[in-house]
Amino acid sequence: MFNNLSDKLDKALHVLKGHGSITEVNVAETLKEVRRALLDADVNFKIAKDFTTTVKEKALGQNVLTTLQPGQLMVKIVKDELTELMGGDAEGINLSGNPSVILMSGLQGSGKTTFSGKLANYLKTKKSKKPLLVACDVYRPAAIDQLHVVGSQIGVEVFSDRGNSDPVAISKAGIAHAKANGYNVVIIDTAGRLAVDEAMMTEISNIHKAIQPQETLFVVDSMTGQDAVNTAKAFNDVLNFDGVILTKLDGDTRGGAAISIKSVVNKPIKFIGTGEKMEAIDVFYPSRMADRILGMGDVVSLVERAQEQFDEEEARKLQKKIAKNQFGFDDFLKQIQQIKKMGNMKDLMGMIPGAGKMLKDVDIDDDAFKGIEAIIHSMTPKERSNPNIINASRKTRIGKGSGTSVQQVNQLLKQFDQMSKMMKMMQGGGGKKMMQMMKG
Ligand code: GDP
Repeated sequence: MFNNLSDKLDKALHVLKGHGSITEVNVAETLKEVRRALLDADVNFKIAKDFTTTVKEKALGQNVLTTLQPGQLMVKIVKDELTELMGGDAEGINLSGNPSVILMSGLQGSGKTTFSGKLANYLKTKKSKKPLLVACDVYRPAAIDQLHVVGSQIGVEVFSDRGNSDPVAISKAGIAHAKANGYNVVIIDTAGRLAVDEAMMTEISNIHKAIQPQETLFVVDSMTGQDAVNTAKAFNDVLNFDGVILTKLDGDTRGGAAISIKSVVNKPIKFIGTGEKMEAIDVFYPSRMADRILGMGDVVSLVERAQEQFDEEEARKLQKKIAKNQFGFDDFLKQIQQIKKMGNMKDLMGMIPGAGKMLKDVDIDDDAFKGIEAIIHSMTPKERSNPNIINASRKTRIGKGSGTSVQQVNQLLKQFDQMSKMMKMMQGGGGKKMMQMMKG
């Protein structure tokens, strides 16, 4: 995420970081570089200029030049300003209605349908809501089908009326259906066009007036940079929407949209989409995003993701197994699956301070565990719980079955053995033993 921008900001600020004393000329140079980095990331010119002016004023106001660690203070000022620019505190969505009606708007292809599904899934699993999805794209039958596919994936009902060509009537009928059947959130997916046009604006505005949603969200593809900002403006003029959803942040986005949009429409970014899967949705936290942009990682989000997957009961069972030397490949497989559920690997790595920078050119994909999983799947249950019985002929069979080589099987067995020993040591209050082993 935003690798290029992170890189450039890091370089710009690096000059200051190392120095004990900094001159005014130094600061001006650095800020010029910061501005260039923002412009390269497709941040609007005026925003970039205002940004560096504010940072400069703050830096001089706080006497950066005379503090002990001026470099660090500068980084902090830049971080705070970036946070402010992206929206300050995180804002939730209004779910006070019964049902609460959420209207989705945005261009075709921005990710509206996908996000409608993600939001329904999020509200269902994390907020214990009973959502209903309503398909209001009357022009493309495929769009209605797509919403039904999404709905069945996440186990959420989809309301549609293929014979009806009036989106206002469908959305009203959808809300009535929700009321009659005990749904407490209604998410209305609407038709988009490839570019802003009058017919689309009139249609979404009519729906908006007729149903008066608690929450109107504008969905935008973050890959579109400054265009995203212009589209946001056009929709906001008509809808006065409540929040922005930035999608496709998992791609190679430059960051301009994330940084500029808030200050142009003065509406918060509420969620981000980070992949095509239904789980790839995150609440947007400006300060965490600023940390990530400045290469400081995002440990808070990483821990939260880990906690979401953490099951105390399972952990206790696992601990017992390790203590009794019964940790087998099935347990290992479960661990891998839990890590995978936390998100895509590159995204996770980006949350570890410093790791994003180190690994930016390394191609880590979600298939990282594929070979390992294939090998484990080719083992018999007996072999998984007792790897010691895996002799040469079994290794050949497993290699063939998993499409890997005996060498790869050997490697995994060796790693597994080392890991098991290590876990056992940590269990037995063996921190000391481990230190000794590492030293020896
Ligand atoms: P709509 O026309 O606005 O309803 O857009 P769709 O929901 O159909 O999304 C358009 C395309 O973008 C689809 O191929 C989605 O899978 C993809 N997409 C949506 N959100 C994301 C995201 O956060 N990350 C990535 N990589 N792809 C996404």
